[in-house]
Amino acid sequence: MSNETERVRLLIIGSGPAGYTAAIYAARADLKPVLYQGLQPGGQLTTTTEVENFPGYPDGTMGPEMMEHFRKQAERFGADIRFGHATDVDFSGAVHKITIDGSKVVDAEAVIIATGASAKWLGLESEKRLNGFGVSACATCDGYFFRKQDVAIVGAGDTAAEEATYLAKLCNKVYMIVRRDEMRASKAMQHRVMNTPNIEILWNTVTLEILGDKTVSGVKVKNTKTAEEKILKVEGFFVAIGHEPNTGIFKGQLDLDSNGYIKTKPGTTYTNIPGVFAAGDVQDHVYRQAVTAAGTGCMAAIDAERWLALKQDG
Ligand code: NDP
Repeated sequence: MSNETERVRLLIIGSGPAGYTAAIYAARADLKPVLYQGLQPGGQLTTTTEVENFPGYPDGTMGPEMMEHFRKQAERFGADIRFGHATDVDFSGAVHKITIDGSKVVDAEAVIIATGASAKWLGLESEKRLNGFGVSACATCDGYFFRKQDVAIVGAGDTAAEEATYLAKLCNKVYMIVRRDEMRASKAMQHRVMNTPNIEILWNTVTLEILGDKTVSGVKVKNTKTAEEKILKVEGFFVAIGHEPNTGIFKGQLDLDSNGYIKTKPGTTYTNIPGVFAAGDVQDHVYRQAVTAAGTGCMAAIDAERWLALKQDG
């Protein structure tokens, strides 16, 4: 362990739309932000292909390319963007201590947490191979690419139910693959699913393999009660089995909700610790869109700027 310590005014952890937007605003406010990109520079959007719903791109853009644009825009105003992963934090003192890659310690007056959330996956090799080529963890983002086609969605919580009904509006047919004989989703959402004629629920069913060479052409499923296996001919496969907020290092220091998301004061990005702000999917399990993450990133930079100014005056 090295004892290297650096002092900064504002540290931003995470490099998705929330982190980079916070960096753009903070740099323009002359806060000289330092941003650590984390294990997946650019965040979840770097694992998607085309993005058509981010305002300002009338012809759409590619996720990785869009995140490059975010980064360059932040750097243009002097944000210090660095490789590195926050491995530990200590928010107990007046100055916040963030350990990077297990060795370097950064002392920060204010911190914006934008570490995001990660979609959970089934763990199949074919799911990984076809990710972005018919396999997606976001129906709102990618459903449009499958309009008038047949798709399948796995999961039985509120997200899966909501996404299945969303897909049903765009697609010809939606197979909903449910591993038990009941759904976890709220009764209201279940009713919506069951009353949508082009959704077919496959109960007690697990996914064995996603078929297709370059793009998805079908899904092999198995009924665990009857052991019957069959192939669903679909062009899209959506995984909606939950998300995991990236909040492991904040447990015990920040107030988290029962699903592990950071709690923020309603209408703001303030956490329970003064000078620590949270933006993007790490504090939002409802909207989870690039544009909403960017919006809260902007809010976090403004909240941090005002908080730092008050601290200086006081
Ligand atoms: P949940 O954890 O609630 O549900 C996950 C679902 O995926 C469960 O049905 C689970 O099955 C299933 N699942 C998990 N792992 C596998 C697997 N390996 N194979 C097959 N199925 C699997 O996650 P959600 O994202 O749906 O919701 C997260 C939270 O957000 C919840 O509190 C939810 O209520 C909330 N939410 C609210 C919304 C709203 O109010 N509009 C919209 C979306 C989310 P099983 O049931 O068998 O465990």
